[in-house]
Amino acid sequence: MIDAGLPVRAFFTTRDGGVSVPPYESLNLAVHVGDEPHAVATNRARVADHAGVPVSYLVAEHGIAVARLTAPGESPPAADALVTTVPGVGLAAIAADCVPVLLHDSASGAVAAVHAGREGLFAGVIDATVAALLDIRGGHRARGQMRASIGPAICGRCYEVPVAMRARVAARHASAFATTRTGTAALDLPRAIETRLGELGLSGIVRSHECTAESSRLFSHRRDGVTGRFAGIVVCE
Ligand SMILES: [Zn+2]
Repeated sequence: MIDAGLPVRAFFTTRDGGVSVPPYESLNLAVHVGDEPHAVATNRARVADHAGVPVSYLVAEHGIAVARLTAPGESPPAADALVTTVPGVGLAAIAADCVPVLLHDSASGAVAAVHAGREGLFAGVIDATVAALLDIRGGHRARGQMRASIGPAICGRCYEVPVAMRARVAARHASAFATTRTGTAALDLPRAIETRLGELGLSGIVRSHECTAESSRLFSHRRDGVTGRFAGIVVCE
């Protein structure tokens, strides 16, 4: 587990510590990738033990839908971000190259888990999540800071894309413009998300610089094709 550096219990899982067999070895947390359901259930139970609460897993749509959960263990509707203000609720965003982002707002106590891939970022999922947290904050008088933790993801030197795709995304997120080691077009999604969160007024931003495609302890869809998914988990306290 990788600590997410937030003021509440929040972490990113790795491949280690689960029961799934190749090519999902071993802590695969996704039910949609072909792994044995009972293995995924065991892996998720281990993550819940580590979190100390039941964990609700995001089912991403690559859009900007934000769902608000109100009970521990609740099954969320399809959405790209989960938020809650209810203590004891754990939220998870799964990924394997896309970017899991965890947020905490000390003004309201709210937490959020976001799945931010290329299309979700482009459509505005980061903006939508921060807007949802600001909306919740409107009902609270306490001052406080909104913090974010950007998890491991494919880096700008590995995430090769067509030239036209880079141009399209970079027109909206200039800091996404990147080049691979071999000089071809690429996108740097973690950097673009860090930039956008800063533009939205967040100052406490923690960012993992570990690349999923380069690190053998993480799942990478781009590198391995059929593989598992890790997750970012945040607990509302
Ligand atoms: Zn990389």
